[in-house]
Amino acid sequence: MGDTIFGKIIRREIPADIVYEDDDVLAFRDLNPQAPVHVLFVPRKAIATLDAASAEDAELLGKLLLAAASYARQEGLAEKGYRTVVNCNEHGGQTVFHLHVHLLGGRPMHWPPG
Ligand code: C5P
Repeated sequence: MGDTIFGKIIRREIPADIVYEDDDVLAFRDLNPQAPVHVLFVPRKAIATLDAASAEDAELLGKLLLAAASYARQEGLAEKGYRTVVNCNEHGGQTVFHLHVHLLGGRPMHWPPG
């Protein structure tokens, strides 16, 4: 599997504004935020896309979402709400091929997304 910019962030080879980490998950602020809070939750395991995830990743995928929810609660976003997004491949708008969950909050979100 090819390395990505997120692999370099996980290995601390390049800087990032890391807001959360545990044995399985790292979270850092998006460099190009699309909302007042825009944090990326990334598994340490380099899974390229959601499409490349398998049954053995089920617990890890759950941990990513729960970490995002916990952070959102901690930041006071839960009551008004927030959005989580996983872009997959070209039509999904994925640009970094290391699976990640976007957490967006601090403003009302629109639907349908662009
Ligand atoms: O879902 P997608 O792959 O498009 O998301 C990648 C995200 O990674 C973008 O929101 C981009 O701003 C962010 N990014 C970042 N730091 C980098 C490279 C990309 O926060 N060094």
